[in-house]
Amino acid sequence: MAGREGVFVPTTLPMDANLPWLTSVKQSLSDAVHHDRLGHAVLIQIDPGLGGEWLATWLAARLYCTAETVKPCGQCLDCRRVVTGEQPDMLRLSPIDESKEIRIDQVREMDAELALTSHGGGRKVVIITPAEKLNRNAANALLKTLEEPAGSSLLVLVTGEPSRLPATVLSRCTPVGVPTPPTEALEAWLRTQGNRNKDWRAVLGVIGPRPLVALQVEAEAIVNLQRETIRALDQVLAGNLDPVETAESWGKERFTLRIMSIENWLVSRIREWASGQKVANTEALFAALDDAREARQLAETPVNKPLAIERLLWRLNAASTKRRPG
Ligand SMILES: [Zn+2]
Repeated sequence: MAGREGVFVPTTLPMDANLPWLTSVKQSLSDAVHHDRLGHAVLIQIDPGLGGEWLATWLAARLYCTAETVKPCGQCLDCRRVVTGEQPDMLRLSPIDESKEIRIDQVREMDAELALTSHGGGRKVVIITPAEKLNRNAANALLKTLEEPAGSSLLVLVTGEPSRLPATVLSRCTPVGVPTPPTEALEAWLRTQGNRNKDWRAVLGVIGPRPLVALQVEAEAIVNLQRETIRALDQVLAGNLDPVETAESWGKERFTLRIMSIENWLVSRIREWASGQKVANTEALFAALDDAREARQLAETPVNKPLAIERLLWRLNAASTKRRPG
């Protein structure tokens, strides 16, 4: 599966992992499988760092598991095949490394595969993740599949950003939403999973409510990166730091995490202004926040990273001198 800088998703969680925020959605999906109410396409709307891809895999295992007791058992041959990607009736569409997107030839290969009789005589399952990476042609091709589904196939789309999918695709999928749990609940869960003494709150403060990502990153490094970013941004705002030099060094590594830190800092400054605590050139702050969000979305493309950061820092520099952003 294609990795993403700063936001990568473990696929090694066992099928019986206890992710409390998914308990009720698992129950609903399990009931839907039991009563054969699942339909042909399901859209799981959840950030990958909250377990969206794991949930899609769990659903596939729920369909293939041959255990007599609780499904998926995670132990039988069929469950293990799902987890290792060896289940012959199952496909996974993810961005191809270089292109960073899911392309039309992948959807065509999927169609060809779905047209064949299933190996095990049951349903064929396709997991498409992250679904917002379908490029326009691929999404159009997928639309045809969604309109005329082959046999008893099940398409499971996973996305943290449903608004980036065409409305025509969205309307043909059964939506499965997972509300984002409060930070305290995620912290508590992280303490049961890893180091109890890590500053999980600070880590989630940078990467957002993504506990599965939190387990994968070096917590101390993230906390340090955030501290360093905040210190530097305060100086930029005071006009005491050179944006060009700072951007050059920040653009080199950990770009996504750095942008996330900057976003958090900007949101705090805007909150301070909104609550009347501080005077600010809000126009520049909002413009910088827009830039930061755009930069994060472009992080996986060959965007000029130092330049993107430099642009952001100049906005803040404008905020410091009360000049209108240009
Ligand atoms: Zn099983």
